[in-house]
Amino acid sequence: MNENATPAGAQPPQPADINHLLTQYGCGPIQFTGTSDALYERHLMFDNVVDAAATGARERYEAAARSVRDVLSQRWLRTEQTYERENPKRIYYLSMEFLIGRSLANTITNLRLDPVAQRLVKEENLHPLALIEQEPDAGLGNGGLGRLAACFIDSMATMQLPAMGYGLRYEYGIFRQFIEDGWQRERPDNWLRHPDPWEVPRPHERVEIKLGCSFEVRGGTLGVVPGRPSSVFGLPFDRPVAGYGGRTINTLRLWAAAAPDVFDFQAFSAGEFVSALAGQLSAESLTRVLYPDDTTSQGQGLRFVQEYFLVACSLADVVRRFRRINADWSALPRKVAIQLNDTHPSLAVPELMRILLDDAGLGWDEAWDLTQQTLAYTNHTLLPEALETWPLAWFERLLPRHLEIVLEINRRFLDDVRARFPGDEDRVRRVSLVDGDPNRRIRMANLAVVGSHSTNGVAAIHSCLLRTETLRDLAEMYPERFSNKTNGVTPRRWLLLANPALAGRITAAIGDGWITDLAQLEKLRPLAEDAGFRDAVRAAKREAKASFAHWLRAAEGISIDPDSIFDSQVKRIHEYKRQMLNALRVVVLYNRLRQDPAPEMAPRTFLFAGKAAPAYHLAKVIIKFINNLAATINQDPVVRHRLKVVFLPEYCVSLAERLIPASDVSNQISTAGYEASGTSNMKFMMNGALTIGTRDGATIEMAEAAGEDNLFLFGLTAGQVAGSRGWYNPHWHYDNEPETRAALDLIFSDHFSRHEPGVFEPLRDALLTHGDHYMHLADLRSYLAADRDLVGLYADADGWVRKVIMNLAASGRFSSDRTIAEYAAEIWQAGPCPVP
Ligand SMILES: *Cc1c(COP(=O)(O)O)cnc(C)c1O
Repeated sequence: MNENATPAGAQPPQPADINHLLTQYGCGPIQFTGTSDALYERHLMFDNVVDAAATGARERYEAAARSVRDVLSQRWLRTEQTYERENPKRIYYLSMEFLIGRSLANTITNLRLDPVAQRLVKEENLHPLALIEQEPDAGLGNGGLGRLAACFIDSMATMQLPAMGYGLRYEYGIFRQFIEDGWQRERPDNWLRHPDPWEVPRPHERVEIKLGCSFEVRGGTLGVVPGRPSSVFGLPFDRPVAGYGGRTINTLRLWAAAAPDVFDFQAFSAGEFVSALAGQLSAESLTRVLYPDDTTSQGQGLRFVQEYFLVACSLADVVRRFRRINADWSALPRKVAIQLNDTHPSLAVPELMRILLDDAGLGWDEAWDLTQQTLAYTNHTLLPEALETWPLAWFERLLPRHLEIVLEINRRFLDDVRARFPGDEDRVRRVSLVDGDPNRRIRMANLAVVGSHSTNGVAAIHSCLLRTETLRDLAEMYPERFSNKTNGVTPRRWLLLANPALAGRITAAIGDGWITDLAQLEKLRPLAEDAGFRDAVRAAKREAKASFAHWLRAAEGISIDPDSIFDSQVKRIHEYKRQMLNALRVVVLYNRLRQDPAPEMAPRTFLFAGKAAPAYHLAKVIIKFINNLAATINQDPVVRHRLKVVFLPEYCVSLAERLIPASDVSNQISTAGYEASGTSNMKFMMNGALTIGTRDGATIEMAEAAGEDNLFLFGLTAGQVAGSRGWYNPHWHYDNEPETRAALDLIFSDHFSRHEPGVFEPLRDALLTHGDHYMHLADLRSYLAADRDLVGLYADADGWVRKVIMNLAASGRFSSDRTIAEYAAEIWQAGPCPVP
């Protein structure tokens, strides 16, 4: 596939020769046989100063994690030294979210220390699962966007790219979800309660961030004092990012806020969940909590300051590092590439301009050229209402100098627009960086496009709609800036680590080159006709299902039948993702069985998981509905052994790693035109699940790669969705489709809410009264038809596994290594910098 993707896999260290490996890491030879100088035992005893016999699982986890960190620490140092010496072009990935999940098992896998770990587990009589469970998920993100950032830093380290991630060290990540009477409830995620063995604080590298005002609380309300500048410190906490093979150890640098002055952000924040946590009167509040909001940008002052804080800390750090070895400012774009993950860090445009104008003393034209050449922007949404804007008044108070710069950028830009489109004042209004009076707001997406050399979407259809719809005027101005970079996921975490059963069988069939070059999975294609390999794939799935069922029973007390079809939809709960369409499908299947319990059919288990933004009421009603549906169906003696519905609480990376390998069916059923890419669709594909889905996001490219016949596609296309706006009427489906009508009538008769009459009225409003904006009813019938095909094929065990293998073989394109190779070649113009 590409030269960059494979270097780490070219000459893997021999797992057998562990001491050689450790010597290479500068740590060996070390005995792992229970003698006193073993890393693990040393940590266990000295870190906690207790007798090893008296330690609990948490201490043992910390000791294990610290030992692994010891193994990589010299290599980590050497990586940075190499970059400093070689002075390559460096890549900086700025993201408000990094949804990392757990690190212990992943780091062991990437360092190829599994044999050492296994020996340690045996020698020390450890319970590996209990140990792993001690590590909290680092949930510093909401969903796909944050997980993408985490996959990208894994790929960049594996491909030996001189890259660094920059984010915020939220004290509280995405809230913990639990279910009470079927409703979602939120608890704060205090993930740093125990010391985190992975992070290294770097207090001597702190930066000071200046703000244009200070804050004062008078009579209980927050007052901004405009004339009086204040400042906050950013403290870096570094986390190692081990590339596969352990050659490159890159850094994820997360910033925590600390106070020189007393600072209050509480009144800045309107959201209850956030203000409850940011209640203390201090600068630390700034990085206390991640905004639990997916896809939309409700303007909130605390979030605005968080975004500036990330940008200001990271750019100060980048520029300091650049200046240490480069005398000439004009070298900036040759030595630095900065990727903005969505518009959240797009204050980087005025911030870099400010540095180049005010600190470096460059003229406007040169500063502007360097800024544009250094920055690149990734767009993640087509919804105009989800494009970020911030009140101009906030800039005025908090960042007056940045506002000056933004307005000057805009003045020059609009001059250009007028010169190229004389008399077209409508166009000028549409593309302006400032939304019109009276509540003037800065349009962050326009700022990012104008202030950078590259704008990319995250799947072919998304990039196309971006160019032709959402950002059409800007794409007409700068067509050469727009491109597509279809998302991917790291096969290390999502296949090698999450699904040992399948990974082992793939390696047995084609060797282990796929781990760093996923395109090699193509070699599996002919094996679809090999009965032995089909059996192996079937056995792998069966193992993963049994192990998931076993875990589910132990963890949640829920029993599911590994011989049933595991049919999953796991992702943030959102109307456009249409969990409600899935639920309607289940209601129809339930109605069919109630009417005719006779038919012979494979039993089915419907697995749902996902969090709703705490303020998104309808999404919470959908969770409530799924839980009530589950309660009714699972108790009904007629259908009990045929249909089972499970809503799993607390969806997170660790749950995804368990559930996805066990799934037979992946539901990717967003309203076409709404899902930018999706990445869980890819994880399912490479774990041997078949997709039932709409032609949306990257699912379209998955179907292209595997062949349409090997997926179950249904429903309106994005063009048809757009074309039926204006005349679509859900009542037509209700009036003319008996099964649709019966399903809705059953819901609104309170069949699933006997003791809570009327609780699902908001669903009636959304699906009928208010016009069914996401067109559930338009797609229900074709969904059911695709579902019938799918169940029909499942009865043909060989036919099913053939399609599974065709999907697996075609999933190589969806490795984040391929995505990163494209970013590196086409946006960053940066290459590997191997560590000797
Ligand atoms: C992959 C992943 C997502 C993204 O899922 P989509 O179905 O693409 O929205 C969200 N959350 C977690 C925990 C994930 O692992």
